[in-house]
Amino acid sequence: MDSEQFREFGKAAVDYIADYFDTIRDRPVLHSVQPGYLEELLPKEVPRTGETWQTVLRDVDKLIQPGITHWHHPNFHGYFAAANSFPAIVGEMMSAGFTSIGVNWMASPAYTELEMVMMDWLAKLLNLPEIFLNSSNGPGGGVLQGSASETTLLCLLTSRERKIQELQTENPDLKVEDILGKLVAYSSDQSNSSIERSGLLGAMPMRLLPSDSTGKLRGSTLLEAIKADKEKGLIPCYVVACLGTTPTCSFDDLSELGPICEEEKVWLHVDAAYAGAAFACPEYRHLMKGVEFVDSFNFNPHKWMLVNYDCSAMWLKDARCLIDSFNVDRIYLKHNKLPDIPEYRHWQIPLGRRLRAMKLWFVLRIYGVEGIQKYIRGHISQAKYFEKLVRSDSRFEVVTSILGLVCFRLQDDSSTQKLLDKLVERGKLFLIAATFDKKRVIRFAVCSRYSEKRDMDFAWNEILLVADSVVPKRKRKFNHSHYLLEENICFSDSLKIKRKMLCEPLPFTKDL
Ligand SMILES: *Cc1c(COP(=O)(O)O)cnc(C)c1O
Repeated sequence: MDSEQFREFGKAAVDYIADYFDTIRDRPVLHSVQPGYLEELLPKEVPRTGETWQTVLRDVDKLIQPGITHWHHPNFHGYFAAANSFPAIVGEMMSAGFTSIGVNWMASPAYTELEMVMMDWLAKLLNLPEIFLNSSNGPGGGVLQGSASETTLLCLLTSRERKIQELQTENPDLKVEDILGKLVAYSSDQSNSSIERSGLLGAMPMRLLPSDSTGKLRGSTLLEAIKADKEKGLIPCYVVACLGTTPTCSFDDLSELGPICEEEKVWLHVDAAYAGAAFACPEYRHLMKGVEFVDSFNFNPHKWMLVNYDCSAMWLKDARCLIDSFNVDRIYLKHNKLPDIPEYRHWQIPLGRRLRAMKLWFVLRIYGVEGIQKYIRGHISQAKYFEKLVRSDSRFEVVTSILGLVCFRLQDDSSTQKLLDKLVERGKLFLIAATFDKKRVIRFAVCSRYSEKRDMDFAWNEILLVADSVVPKRKRKFNHSHYLLEENICFSDSLKIKRKMLCEPLPFTKDL
C-alpha cells in the first residue's frame, strides 16, 4: 500500500468511525451473535493474494460490527464507562503513525518527555500531593501503564522489594527466602478481581477483608488482620485501598487506613480506577482525604476521562524501589544522556513502550479542565436524576448512589435477578448485577459520552415496564409516571422502526 492509498483508506476509516458514532443511538446496545459466529464466516487461512482495503473495510461492517457490544451507546449501563473521544482516537492514530519502540530515552526522547509532563498535568488536575510529580525534587513520579491490574501487581512487587530491604537493613543475616513465604497483602472483599489476581501473580496471599455495611474497609478490621498475621509470624507487606469499588463505588477512608499502614510499615496502594477521574472536580476531592499517606496511586483515564483504552495512570511517592526492582541494564540499552530523566522501562513489565501520552495530550488540550469537569458532572447529574426516578416507585430500593453509579433492587434477590435477566433479554438496556451487603443489586452506571437526561427516562421506563411483569402492583409517589409510561410505548415503537434500519450498512459502505 502506498501513501496515496493510505490517505484514501485512512479517510474512509475515519468516515466509518464518525458514521458509527453518528448512528450509535439507533443501534441495539448488544451484539447480535452466538459464540463461534466468526469462525464460520472467516476464511480458514491467510488470503493467497492481497485484497483491496475496500473489501476489508466492507467486512468490518459486515462481520465485525454485529459482534460489537456498543459500550458508547447511551443505553449501555454495564460495568463502568470505557472512555472514548475523537481527540483520543486521533491521538491513538498519531501514536501508531510514529511507532518507535520507546525502550529508553534515546529511542525517542519525545515518548519519555511527553509522558513526564502529561503525568504532572494529570496529577495537578486531580490535585494529588506535590510529592507525586515528576517535576518535584523528591524521588516521586508518575508513569502510564496499560491497566490498573498491571499497576496493582507492580506495586505489590515493589512493596515486596521495599520490605526485603527494610528487614535486611535491620538484620543483615536475614535471607530473602526466609522473608518471601511470609509476606501478606490485604484489600477489602469489595475490591476488584484484579486485586486478588495480583496476589496470585505475585505469590503473596491477598486477604480480602470484610467491608462494613457501607462497603468500606475499616481501619479496625485491617488492624486486627495485621495483628493476627504478625502473631502467626507472618509479615504484613501491602494494602490496596479502593476509592470507588467495582460493585457499588464505595470509598475506603484513607485517613483511617493511612496511619495504620505508616505505623506498620506496610505499602499503601490506591485503586481509584474509575472514580479517580472525579477528583478533577474539587467537590469530590473529600473522597480522597488522607491521600498524602499513600505510597502509590492509580486511576484509569481510560475509564472516565475520555482517553480510549489503554491508559492507566500510576504515581509513586518514591519510585526508587520500583526502579531498583526491575532494573536489568544491558549494554545495548545504555546511553550517556540526562541521568535525571526517568528510564520508564524500569517502571513497567514490558521492555518496549508506546506513545500512550499522545492521546492523553490531545484529550487534555482539546477538552481542557472545564471540558473534562463538565463531562464528569454531566454523568453524575444524570445518575442523580435516575436515582430520583427509582426512588419514586416504592417497589424499588436504592441501595447506593454515588458519582455515576446507582445500585438498586426490588424487594428480594430472586425478583431482582428476574428483572435483570428480562431486561438484558429484551436487549434495550445493558446492565449487570452485583452483590452488596449479601444482597443482589442491579448496577446502573452512566457510561456513554452521548448519554443525556432523556436516556435516563428511557431506561427507567423500560425498567418499569419489565418490573410490572415481575412485581405487578405499583404504588407511585410521583404522578408523572403515567406520562412516562406512555412515552415509553411510543419510544419502543420508534425503536422497532430504527432497528429495521439497522440491518442496512452504514452510509459509507454503501458508497464502496
Ligand atoms: C476497572 C477496574 C479495575 C481494572 O482495570 P484494568 O485497567 O482493566 O486492569 C480495577 N479496579 C477497579 C475499581 C476498576 O473499576
